Amino acid sequence: MDFLPIFLNIKDKRCLVVGGGEVATRKAGVLLDAGAKVLVVAPEIDDELAKHPGVTPVLARFDESHLEGVTLIVAATDDRAVNTMVSELARARNIPVNVVDDPKLCSFIMPSILDRSPLIVAFSSGGSSPVLARMLRGKLETMIPQSYSRLVAFAERFREVVKTRVTNPAKRRIFWENALEGVIAEKVLTGDEVSAETLLEQLMADEDNIARGEVFLVGAGPGDPDLLTFRALRLMQKADVVVYDNLVSKPIVEMTRRDATRIFVGKKRDDHTMRQEDINQLLVTLAKEGKRVLRLKGGDPFIFGRGGEEIETLAAENIPFQVVPGITAASGVASYAGIPLTHRDYAQSCMFVTGHLKDGTMNLDWDALARPKQTVVVYMGLHGLEILCAELVKHGMPDTTPIAIVQQGTTQNQRVITGTLATLPAIAEREKPQAPTLIIVGGVVTLREKLAWFHPNPL
Ligand code: SAH
Repeated sequence: MDFLPIFLNIKDKRCLVVGGGEVATRKAGVLLDAGAKVLVVAPEIDDELAKHPGVTPVLARFDESHLEGVTLIVAATDDRAVNTMVSELARARNIPVNVVDDPKLCSFIMPSILDRSPLIVAFSSGGSSPVLARMLRGKLETMIPQSYSRLVAFAERFREVVKTRVTNPAKRRIFWENALEGVIAEKVLTGDEVSAETLLEQLMADEDNIARGEVFLVGAGPGDPDLLTFRALRLMQKADVVVYDNLVSKPIVEMTRRDATRIFVGKKRDDHTMRQEDINQLLVTLAKEGKRVLRLKGGDPFIFGRGGEEIETLAAENIPFQVVPGITAASGVASYAGIPLTHRDYAQSCMFVTGHLKDGTMNLDWDALARPKQTVVVYMGLHGLEILCAELVKHGMPDTTPIAIVQQGTTQNQRVITGTLATLPAIAEREKPQAPTLIIVGGVVTLREKLAWFHPNPL
């Protein structure tokens, strides 16, 4: 270890920044965030910096007198001679000094910071590669949401109370682990501190029963793992059990916690591995065992996803749950296929419908669907494609209307098959698209020639 990482209290202390440009402004900003009083010395000082209430600007060239009463120094000029002089004088007086981008002149270095105050994570590569440290910070940034600040403050607020109520130190540690990882933390992170406090009270009252199950109903998007939300990813890495079905792509399932139990509940057309009622019950049973259950669903859980039914059962059983939206197929697939669903030259509205066949028919409001200047997106529609095209034409849509089938959109197997209401059924018969497929009807489909950007298997 080349440096000792420490966190310095510089509240109300006088700190010196030599330099008045952009870099100096950035460095001064960090010092100000930590509560310092900042003296800025330079012949020219950026307006924004000079006017900051915590800053005393001194329009002059740096000299030794500026070191008077100073706790810490940052040199951020573009003149190496000045930087060297600052460094030497500071060291002679044992004042910690940082020279931007010049590790040799530094007695301390400034880390890259992830600020979730009071929680602060600092990254440093010892000056070897600040970019790498920043990249790493970026990675962690996605895993530690902004609301962590709230969580830390919450824990601090209850620290003493918990100490007096849960007296056994080993139990107290588990108590906090559960509280900070489980449903209480989730409540705090979503801003519901009132419920969190109630739950914390309950947990404290019942030392023997500190594990409590919960369910995360999470939308995993249409396939490409890049389209997951930060919250989805966080919960995926937290859950003890993962319950997923066909639509969730393999790379996404693999991103769930390594040691989590994975339960496949199927659902292909006409091949229901598990009935919906049984899935609902399974979630209840697992949560009652104290597990954190991830119910992972393709796209968005509330769009043709039966997510509503699953949480109805949970609510009836008083099991805590949360729902995380995902990018629905219509939105993800259209983007990747280059079809702007409501391009103003072609459509004023967009309808999402299910084309699921019941007794061999599709029971839709055809008059509403056939209206001009609108885009229609059909989920689960491939098997009824012929009926769909025929009914739309019968209800007044020109048979020259463009229509696309997108197979396995946003994945490496994405394929787009286009035609018109008159021609597409025959084309699809020949091309045999693979599930899942989404159908898009309307003038916007023609734009894909110009706008498609996602080329699966680019080699
Ligand atoms: N809740 C999901 C939809 C579930 S219904 C969502 O919001 O996306 C299942 C249907 O979604 C499939 O039959 C298909 O029409 C569509 N679908 C889901 N993912 C898809 C994908 N990657 N490509 C094409 N269609 C998809």
